Amino acid sequence: MAEATRVHGPRGFRLEGVAATYDTSGAEALCGVSLTIEPGEFVAVVGPNGAGKSTLLQLLAGLVEPSRGTVTLDGVALRDHRRRDLARRIAWLPQRLEPAFDITVADLVALGRTAHRSLWGGDDDADRRAIDGALAATDTTEFRGRLVQELSGGERQRVALAMSLAQAPEVLLLDEPTTHLDPAHAQGLLDVVARKHLDEGLTVVAVFHDLNLAALAAGRVVVINDGLVVADGPPALALAPSVLAQTFGPVMHTVTHPVVGVAQVLPARAPQSVLPLEISR
Ligand code: ADP
Repeated sequence: MAEATRVHGPRGFRLEGVAATYDTSGAEALCGVSLTIEPGEFVAVVGPNGAGKSTLLQLLAGLVEPSRGTVTLDGVALRDHRRRDLARRIAWLPQRLEPAFDITVADLVALGRTAHRSLWGGDDDADRRAIDGALAATDTTEFRGRLVQELSGGERQRVALAMSLAQAPEVLLLDEPTTHLDPAHAQGLLDVVARKHLDEGLTVVAVFHDLNLAALAAGRVVVINDGLVVADGPPALALAPSVLAQTFGPVMHTVTHPVVGVAQVLPARAPQSVLPLEISR
């Protein structure tokens, strides 16, 4: 619970009629989004490019102010929480970590502790435990003395996750965390996040480019199109053919994963130019 006084309402995020604009033209990146995210949920956010997914994450992080409507956390408007409390409670994992200067893995992961430290204090036992735990959870302990810039994309993304976990957040916001990873590394990264979610009740809100990973990772999928929520529910509902057709056009086909039993999507057809004639008919 933040130190800001809780005024009403249950815990978690509440968005009511939220719009967001970036410039004075008034063009809205989100235009009237209402949704609730309960503590301990794992929510995947999907939608076409430019739909407003990253804007939604930035609203949850308090980095973008709504131009209309309200965003509350535990019944308190996000802007009324102390910045330091939000910095402790909410972690953000970007698509790709690009440090602007040379930094070792250990120093980068230690940055995750910044909001927990007193102004003049160094690392205390709790900081060291959190850093070591985050390195172990992401299997990056062996990299601690290496420069982040020297790591591969997959290793670097695990280190970025370690920094977020060292923060010991209640909420983890992930912005297309697996976009630059091959399937095995994407799975590995999501395994770590899922473990934290299941074992420790971490709330996760993750934007996914890959609809299938979204459906496999999260029990709830929110589909955004043109700044509006067009579907919100379990994968089978959110990725139903009618939703996909409305959101992405008639380019996808919904199937059920043969092992996990979760809704998955396939391209509706192969590109015409490479199709053998008998298949394309
Ligand atoms: P998505 O994450 O779904 O691709 P975004 O939330 O990034 O979508 O963008 C939604 C809309 O807001 C787009 O039209 C995009 O051009 C615009 N937008 C996003 N970030 C900015 C920004 N910093 N300045 C101006 N416009 C932006």
